[in-house]
Amino acid sequence: MITTRLRGATHLECTATGESYESEQLIRLSDAGKPLFARYALDEIAPGFQPTDLPGRRADLWRYEEVLPVRDRSCQIQLGEGWTPLLDSPRVASRMGVRRAWIKNEGVNPTASFKDRGLCLAVSRAKELGAEELAIPSAGNAGSASAAYAAAAGLPVHVVVPSDTPAPILEEIRALGADLQLLDGLISDCGAVVRRGCEEHGWFDLSTLKEPYRVEGKKTMGYEIFEQLGLRLPDAIVYPTGGGTGLIGMWKAFDEMERMGWIGRERPKMFSVQAAGCAPIVRAWERGAEDAGTWENAATYASGLRVPGAIGDFLILRAIYESDGGAVAVPDHEMAEWVGHIGSATGVFAAPEGGAVAAAVPRLLEKGLISADDEVVLFCTGSGLKYAGMTPLD
Ligand SMILES: *Cc1c(COP(=O)(O)O)cnc(C)c1O
Repeated sequence: MITTRLRGATHLECTATGESYESEQLIRLSDAGKPLFARYALDEIAPGFQPTDLPGRRADLWRYEEVLPVRDRSCQIQLGEGWTPLLDSPRVASRMGVRRAWIKNEGVNPTASFKDRGLCLAVSRAKELGAEELAIPSAGNAGSASAAYAAAAGLPVHVVVPSDTPAPILEEIRALGADLQLLDGLISDCGAVVRRGCEEHGWFDLSTLKEPYRVEGKKTMGYEIFEQLGLRLPDAIVYPTGGGTGLIGMWKAFDEMERMGWIGRERPKMFSVQAAGCAPIVRAWERGAEDAGTWENAATYASGLRVPGAIGDFLILRAIYESDGGAVAVPDHEMAEWVGHIGSATGVFAAPEGGAVAAAVPRLLEKGLISADDEVVLFCTGSGLKYAGMTPLD
């Protein structure tokens, strides 16, 4: 059998200290306890990987395989992840008060959320590097995605989620064959259970940004937006932020694109949207802080936003500051209202996190953080179907 070898990453780099690490080993955090980023020989890749090379490629995130870490094509797990529609949404734009808005509809991913992008890469790479048993703490959707990709890879996975995770997600995780554990607590408590299992049984922990490759999957959203907008970037990106992997990933993608000569120094303003009941990044941004700490008594029905503390907080905040963006919190009932507005104006049934980003835009306008003339991309990160029976907490 002929296997095609791809170039992959040259090394990993600590996001805090810049220290280098070997990429062809199973690894989690740097010695400083911070996330690692994959680095590529972009100057060597660039001549054969330009926007004009992309049309006609496969309609999933593997169309960007030159800047992804998997080396052996037979290790690319493929369930149809990524290359989701970017929908011009004039009625949502005018209700929000901006000139133009697109909805990136991530609900059409294989397990109906954008978590598939990250777990696709993390599981593909864990398998390539020899992991035998996986584990993940999740607020819900990451559990579904890891169950799906582990099943496709033929690897066992242990998923630990809060017991009040939406029922459709629990059923899905079980149906996909994962070992599911429910816990009375938050995702941070689930993380502690996973850590113990990893120590005792040698499981490989797929927690967001605690291994280097989920962010590589999520960065493809940055490449896609650029391609789908006709090789340009929008004025603003509005992103519902839990662990922040997508925002951090897109910021990384724009840096790579500049290094390959696809774009210049222009960047979209990056906005984090959180729930009023769990807004550590918003609080930190309002104080001008470099990291965010932990939010006490986190509560929101948008389970993807119920993340009291993020290991990549400093990376989220860095992207917000460098892009001249911002952060804003939205109460649950406004998320629910905007789920309805988006639905009736576009035909997309968004998860509450998608409602949150639309609800945030009038607030961003009011605060002068964006202008009515701006073109914005809203991330509808998951399908509303997975939240059946969940109601706003405020
Ligand atoms: C996980 C999740 C989020 C938050 O994503 P991060 O990259 O962790 O910030 C937003 N929306 C949905 C539907 C999610 O599942």
